[in-house]
Amino acid sequence: MDKLATRVVTATTGPEPAQVVCPTCNAEIVTEIEHQTNTKTHIYALLLCLAMCWPCACMPYCCASCRDTVHRCPRCKSFIGVYRR
Ligand SMILES: [Zn+2]
Repeated sequence: MDKLATRVVTATTGPEPAQVVCPTCNAEIVTEIEHQTNTKTHIYALLLCLAMCWPCACMPYCCASCRDTVHRCPRCKSFIGVYRR
């Protein structure tokens, strides 16, 4: 209905692809997900560095559970919502 509807969908999105109705093309779709690093990812990496765990410092970047999950519509590629850790 209004353009802010995308924000409502955010509540239903989790770390896994979700079945939603795309607010842009109004199709019932299963979201495409991608992982994005966030501030927390960098903080974890920094903490691991400070703890002298150099080989582990890149772990937060490889580990999906430390990153945000961004949901997109596979049809129109529009942004659906983001699941933050
Ligand atoms: Zn769409």
